[in-house]
Amino acid sequence: MKPATNLAPSPDEHIHGHGLRMTDQRRAVYDALMGKRDHPTAVEVFMRVKTRMPTISLATVYNCLETLTGCGLVKTVNHDREPSRFCPNLKEHAHFFCERCGGVTDVPLRMRRRARDAWEVPGDIVISQHEVSFRGLCPKCARKNPKSKIQNPK
Ligand SMILES: [Zn+2]
Ligand SMILES: [Zn+2]
Repeated sequence: MKPATNLAPSPDEHIHGHGLRMTDQRRAVYDALMGKRDHPTAVEVFMRVKTRMPTISLATVYNCLETLTGCGLVKTVNHDREPSRFCPNLKEHAHFFCERCGGVTDVPLRMRRRARDAWEVPGDIVISQHEVSFRGLCPKCARKNPKSKIQNPK
């Protein structure tokens, strides 16, 4: 495991803080998300974990993702009516959705700001979660054919 670059609690500490244990299965699911930060769906996470843990079931992966999400270690990313994707980046960030290849990438916030500072949120609104998203063409797709019309992947 890579050393933490900031003072945020480790994944183990994080999960302990919620009265839970970092089981092998939860760790394998978390590592799969950290290994390649491309915002996979639960099924994609399952395929990755299965290569290391052949006995794991899709239902278990769903449970692990639910636990990791529930204790705030992983965020769900929803876009249109597609299946939820998962993101282990806990730093403030928005998501960029490529309209051609369907890729999802993180867009970091330039300044260390909270939503309330960056957006003019009315003071009487209670925010539980906020999502900012961008759409367009990822660098790869933009290079390939920048002028052609964006097509709906469905
Ligand atoms: Zn993300
Ligand atoms: Zn793309």
